[in-house]
Amino acid sequence: MKTEEYIEIENKFGAHNYKPLDVVLSKGEGIWVWDVDGNKYLDCLSAYSAVNQGHCHPKIRQAMIDQAGQLTLTSRAFRNDQLALFYKELCELTESHKVLPMNSGAEAVETAIKCVRKWGYESKGVEHDKAEIIVCDNNFHGRTLAIIGFSSDENSRKSFGPFVSGFKSIPFGDAKALEDAITPNTVAFMVEPIQGEAGVIIPPVGYLKKVREICTKNNVVLILDEIQTGLGRTGKMLAEEHEGIQADLTLIGKALSGGFYPVSAVLSNEAVLGLLKPGQHGSTFGGNPLACAVAREALKVLKEENMIENAASMGQFFLDELKKIDNPSIKEVRGRGLMIAIELFEGTQGGARAICEKLMKMGILCKETHTWTIRFAPPLVITKSDIEWAMEKIKIAFN
Ligand SMILES: *Cc1c(COP(=O)(O)O)cnc(C)c1O
Repeated sequence: MKTEEYIEIENKFGAHNYKPLDVVLSKGEGIWVWDVDGNKYLDCLSAYSAVNQGHCHPKIRQAMIDQAGQLTLTSRAFRNDQLALFYKELCELTESHKVLPMNSGAEAVETAIKCVRKWGYESKGVEHDKAEIIVCDNNFHGRTLAIIGFSSDENSRKSFGPFVSGFKSIPFGDAKALEDAITPNTVAFMVEPIQGEAGVIIPPVGYLKKVREICTKNNVVLILDEIQTGLGRTGKMLAEEHEGIQADLTLIGKALSGGFYPVSAVLSNEAVLGLLKPGQHGSTFGGNPLACAVAREALKVLKEENMIENAASMGQFFLDELKKIDNPSIKEVRGRGLMIAIELFEGTQGGARAICEKLMKMGILCKETHTWTIRFAPPLVITKSDIEWAMEKIKIAFN
């Protein structure tokens, strides 16, 4: 079948809750993907940072195949021989004390919300059903009802109410706003170290450090949503390391499986996750042996193959090269590690989508975010010569 036929069938039978580029992919390897007509592309989205390790990484693939032939799902009614080692290795890599495994990122966020509320009532002494969680404007934490209720994106919320109460939103990057918003009922502050979906918005230097201090001073749990920034994307294992802090709860997902399988996790100190008792939370697939085996290998190759260091050095190189593009429609080029964006001035003819369409024709897949921003987030295995190849095309697209 040809591209057009796939698209026609998809449009006919599927819900239209996405507006993808008209490319139908059928194969991936490292930073490259191929479409059904045989065209080859550099993937500059990495499935929103879920394939940091590169497409179809051979070692993760082997771990998946091996485990699929052994045992895939037991439910947590019984134990399995992968879970304990997954916990231990993940805690060692991220300096955490406890792990709660889930599947999607949104589920990790929901889990965190439940846990900090419980902590608020049982540990901090907040009156029942009064807990408040502070979040940031223009956040992206997922698509479930509780989460979209505190989104500031009209398109995500409209016609989906009524929503869950107990959330308060403040400007991102403004530590003073956090201090002012905290009340005796505040149990947590949840924030992305860099706002990915909002267009790679990097807070002022020192913001997270200040936030850490404010949370500690007020006995408020700091939740960092590192589902996109974590696992090497910004050039560190976790983005919190850029400011030398440690969150109380850290949420990871996406690249935790290298793109093979939905695996997410809540990482925590003892104080918060330690409060959960049997029966109070769970997931049929959470912590299954297939997920654990895949995640263990995905974490292992991230370290062993120096992908995090590569993200730091190649990210800097890519950013410096992009900054050299001289075009009056570019408002700003910004990034950390391999999480990079070009923001266009509002009103630029065709917006970011037009640039993405041009790049696609030249063999680079990017996705616009919020009309004016183009994100560049290739797998962390990209090399200098790959970036040089891409820069030739990107310069033409901006010509
Ligand atoms: C993708 C993402 C989520 C949601 O993850 P899903 O697996 O799509 O549910 C949450 N937070 C951030 C920062 C994300 O980038």
